[in-house]
Amino acid sequence: MDTSRLKSDFIVVGSGIAGLRAAIDLAEAGTVTMFTKGQITESNSMYAQGGIAAAVGQNDDVDQHYADTMAAGAGLCDPGAVRVLVHEGPAEIQRLLQWGADFAKEGQSLSLSREGGHSQPRILHGNGGRTGTVVVDALLARALASTNVTIIPFTFCRDLIVEGDRVAGIQFEESGNRLGRCDAKATLIATGGGSQVYRESTNPETATGDGLAAAYRAGAELRDMEFVQFHPTVLNLHGASRFLLTEALRGEGAHIVNELGERFINELLTRDEVSRAVFRQMTDRPNAKVFLDVAHIRPEIIRRKFRHVYTTCLQYGLDITRDRIPITPAAHYFMGGVRTDLYGRTSLRGLYAAGEVASTGVHGANRLASNSLLEAVVFGGRAAHAMREDDWSPVSAQAKNQSLPLDRRPDAASLEQIREITWRCAGITRSGDGLKQGLQRLNAIPQNPVSGNLLTVARMIHECALARTESRGAHYREDYPTPAAARLHSYVRKDDPVRLSL
Ligand SMILES: Cc1cc2nc3c(=O)[nH]c(=O)nc-3n(C[C@H](O)[C@H](O)[C@H](O)COP(=O)(O)OP(=O)(O)OC[C@H]3O[C@@H](n4cnc5c(N)ncnc54)[C@H](O)[C@@H]3O)c2cc1C
Repeated sequence: MDTSRLKSDFIVVGSGIAGLRAAIDLAEAGTVTMFTKGQITESNSMYAQGGIAAAVGQNDDVDQHYADTMAAGAGLCDPGAVRVLVHEGPAEIQRLLQWGADFAKEGQSLSLSREGGHSQPRILHGNGGRTGTVVVDALLARALASTNVTIIPFTFCRDLIVEGDRVAGIQFEESGNRLGRCDAKATLIATGGGSQVYRESTNPETATGDGLAAAYRAGAELRDMEFVQFHPTVLNLHGASRFLLTEALRGEGAHIVNELGERFINELLTRDEVSRAVFRQMTDRPNAKVFLDVAHIRPEIIRRKFRHVYTTCLQYGLDITRDRIPITPAAHYFMGGVRTDLYGRTSLRGLYAAGEVASTGVHGANRLASNSLLEAVVFGGRAAHAMREDDWSPVSAQAKNQSLPLDRRPDAASLEQIREITWRCAGITRSGDGLKQGLQRLNAIPQNPVSGNLLTVARMIHECALARTESRGAHYREDYPTPAAARLHSYVRKDDPVRLSL
């Protein structure tokens, strides 16, 4: 197939939950071409463990889900966006069930677990703690059932094409470095987050913030990029991947201990509080180690409820029913992203964003566990609605074609450098001096051809974190350890300084 020049009614970049959910609805209105840079099933979505939150339990209601989400967001959630999330969530769950999502049941009822910050059991889960696969499988089957959907794997979206005052499509690169372009009346970026910008990250290699960087280059506005959620309990074994040890283990009574077996933090505090405590233990003394300990919990519970964790650790020679698990905190989730309205519209005409790449306003300064899969389905569907309905006028006569970008992929050494700098200078605890140093070091990394999307993302995080002279949610500054009175968002756009505003 000659893919060098394509045309489609709609473009979706990314085959995670947000992209797939949108593609299903878009296919009812026209042709959908989905680009994904790896295998179709390679995404953060596939790694999601604990579950998807929705107020579907007997004693639950949308008001409680709303209150919990707002509380987690530390004053920066958009109330309208949260209302949409919690109100439309249960219907999205029904839809997923109709499409074949195999969520775990207890008898005839859905099995609902409880996670930190949720006042009710409301987490649907499945596949032994691999809930992402349950949702992706159902959506993928549904999307592929439509002849209007074409998914092109191993195809890297390099940049958005801006013509005149709108985004007209994307430039992509197939394996073998062949370049192409695809034109469409509406383009959705559903490229996920960018936690790979940190040395320690729970995310797969695909999470390099490409959509964030491409939107930035195209002139879109991004919001709250400094808010990165760190997960406190991630496997820290030489040679092993940074495998997430689900929060539910702490809910079950797991302890966090130092080398002497001493507990030093209430394990049920929020992710950022626990992350900071673990980080402090690890950095206070050279070679200090921290462990998650579940050996006091009945082995049959561990093997049954936490099969995925148990078997994964066993592969690395750890029997967690007996052995302590070495842990580190790691970057996990981007609360901020490309600013959208409640229908995924960005500040650029023709460009939409959904899922982790977007800043819809539902997470504020900190995400409530299991709300991101829900956000991906709810706002993926909403973005599709707007893409179908919006009528963008044709490109103006003065349209200016963007030239083909230079190679934006960083070399391996620069990548390591960027990740190390971001981890040290814009990580779990930050300070003005550290952030300035980090920026200086990032600016010394050559822009092209060795720079890349990660560099752009790293700079945005540093700049926004520097501008935010307070601590709030997941953003902690040692030099400003308390929240400011005003609840402001940070906004960043190419060629403009970071702006703090309502
Ligand atoms: C280990 C782990 C556990 C988690 N557990 C949970 C949980 O239990 N509950 C919960 O709510 N959330 C959880 N999360 C977060 C959640 O998985 C993600 O926020 C969510 O899946 C994001 O979905 P998405 O569709 O926006 O992006 P993703 O699922 O990340 O998909 C992005 C897609 O874009 C593609 N892509 C990226 N860049 C390009 C490019 N340049 N060109 C082409 N394609 C590109 C990728 O290949 C991928 O297909 C977890 C995350 C991790 C890492």
